[in-house]
Amino acid sequence: ESDEARDRGLAYYQPSRDSYSADRLTLVSEFRLALQNQELELHLQPKLGLSNNQIVGAEALIRWPGRSTPIPADQLVAMAEQTGLIKPLTRWVLEEALRVRQQLLERGHAIGVSVNISPNNLREPEFPLHVQRLLTSHPDHRGHITLEVTETSMMLDPGNSLRTLKSLDATGIPLSIDDFGSGYSSLSYIKQLPAREIKIDRSLVGDLPKQNEDRVIVQTTIQMCHSLGYRVVAEGVEDAETQQLLMAMGCDMIQGYHLARPMPLADLLTWLDERADATARKLG
Ligand code: C2E
Ligand code: MG
Ligand code: MG
Ligand code: MG
Repeated sequence: ESDEARDRGLAYYQPSRDSYSADRLTLVSEFRLALQNQELELHLQPKLGLSNNQIVGAEALIRWPGRSTPIPADQLVAMAEQTGLIKPLTRWVLEEALRVRQQLLERGHAIGVSVNISPNNLREPEFPLHVQRLLTSHPDHRGHITLEVTETSMMLDPGNSLRTLKSLDATGIPLSIDDFGSGYSSLSYIKQLPAREIKIDRSLVGDLPKQNEDRVIVQTTIQMCHSLGYRVVAEGVEDAETQQLLMAMGCDMIQGYHLARPMPLADLLTWLDERADATARKLG
């Protein structure tokens, strides 16, 4: 990579403790190259509807394969946010998600795909237009690509974020509030959001069978969200008992290792085929 490109990268640096270290500069350069060279991958984690036991969607999660020590997705995203790479990263993720959904449709699996977007994306005035244009050129996927935003990310810049979310919603983009209950959410703010779905953070879901307090919070959250017109997803469901409890509480959907871990598209296609075969055998 040229010095010039590296200098441009530096201009975006947040002066945090180790931002300027040589290792960190190398990592950022490698990440930028990986993004340019399409070496990043999306893994997909299915989402199950509890009322009919059907797979209703899959969430796209970024991965950087081929590294000796894998870097967790949230760290990749934080690095992208600090270096100005979040804009091209999110654009790549969105295009890849459209490609993923196309392949799902071609294999007969008409499920939705969810994409995580970052606080900085919500601050780009042209972001809604960009998404709108993408879906205009891929009309089959309109209404089936959901954007997930965390409540914390919206609190950073509530005015602009709300404006962005409203224009996304106005053009028919489904929105989901991620990691609900993990930050300092303002319920009065949440009620104004144009989202259709709330995802209860896995910190409230992980110990449900053991934690009486968590059960009270989750049950109340489900009731409140239903009253406000949201569908509710529980994240981080790791065992059958938790799934049973959530079903009894009227939770709409679940995600978690108990159902499936995030996996490459090829594996998801096989997994969905096998599930469909098993269902057909049971019915036939
Ligand atoms: P998230 O959107 O809340 O995604 C759920 C995270 O929980 C994923 O971690 C997933 O692998 C993990 N998970 C799912 N089921 C279970 C479970 O049963 N138990 C446990 N312990 N974990 C479970 P991952 O893939 O490491 O992603 C972490 C976060 O990074 C995501 O949290 C999301 O905020 C962010 N992220 C991932 N991909 C992207 C992306 O393409 N763009 C943006 N902006 N953010 C992304
Ligand atoms: Mg998410
Ligand atoms: Mg989440
Ligand atoms: Mg999270």
